[in-house]
Amino acid sequence: MKPTPFAYAKPASLDAVFDLLAAHGEGARLLAGGQSLIPTLNLRLSSPSLLIDINGLKQLSGIALDGGTIRIGALTRHAEIERSPEIARHLPLIAEAVTHIGHAAIRNRGTLGGSLAFADPAAELPACAVALGATLVVASRASQRRVGATDFFKGLYATDLRPGEVLTAAEFPLPPPGYRSRFAELARRHGDYAMVGLAAHGRVSGENLSDLRLVFFGVGTRPMAAAAAARVLESQPVTSAGLAGAAAALARDLDPPDDLNGSGTTKLHLAGVLLGRVVAALIAKDS
Ligand SMILES: Cc1cc2nc3c(=O)[nH]c(=O)nc-3n(C[C@H](O)[C@H](O)[C@H](O)COP(=O)(O)OP(=O)(O)OC[C@H]3O[C@@H](n4cnc5c(N)ncnc54)[C@H](O)[C@@H]3O)c2cc1C
Repeated sequence: MKPTPFAYAKPASLDAVFDLLAAHGEGARLLAGGQSLIPTLNLRLSSPSLLIDINGLKQLSGIALDGGTIRIGALTRHAEIERSPEIARHLPLIAEAVTHIGHAAIRNRGTLGGSLAFADPAAELPACAVALGATLVVASRASQRRVGATDFFKGLYATDLRPGEVLTAAEFPLPPPGYRSRFAELARRHGDYAMVGLAAHGRVSGENLSDLRLVFFGVGTRPMAAAAAARVLESQPVTSAGLAGAAAALARDLDPPDDLNGSGTTKLHLAGVLLGRVVAALIAKDS
């Protein structure tokens, strides 16, 4: 199928983007990598009257280490994140997760900002942003505001972005000493969206875990933090009995809907499988 007709603009400044958003309102849509937007246009799931191509705004792109934070511009491509030595060194969770996004051609065009703004509940990067306590930077003509990743994701493909706003960057705090991250996902084929995935981040001391964030994806309408399971794991050194208790506690955290990948019951079981793998990797002696 082909998209319905639309106008196209490629502004040279963020101010020009704000002008176009103000003038065209709901009919305008930002175009970043196009890896999610263009398929929805081709399937006629969306019919904007104007595409505002933000690929000319180089100031929205790049990775910068700034004090205790790594700032990743919204227009930074997945492939750039994948190749970044700073990301590999300081944010290994992101470095690992990004390799699971589609295939090389998709990662060459797709952007961090597009992934966060699209808010697919099975996407890797939104879950990592929540697990790592990222802050998302959102700009409008009038102001700039910062939103915690947990508050940014509101529901199925729904975010805290308001009309006229552009996501400009995500800021990730550098993990303090003693913190580790681990990532795992199950997909039918490498590169497919996850059936179930888990981004985990927390403090590790031997077999003791604290300040643990377990964020699942593909099991709800947005990235799902498993607080009850985390509390069980934090309450005692990790043992197989404790791990079984944490897996059982997932039923209090998650209520996965049935979807094309499997029933909710199957997904809850798979979430427990991933929890076991990720916790074992977190406390592994050589990690
Ligand atoms: C075959 C295929 C497989 C894929 N597999 C995966 C996968 O396994 N995991 C995964 O996470 N993704 C996957 N994707 C999607 C890919 O990651 C996209 O890059 C991402 O979802 C959207 O990024 P984009 O830059 O392409 O955004 P676009 O498609 O350009 O935009 C997506 C939406 O975000 C909005 N938007 C974009 N940038 C901004 C901004 N800065 N501020 C505000 N709104 C903005 C757009 O208006 C649009 O509504 C896949 C895509 C394809 C085609």
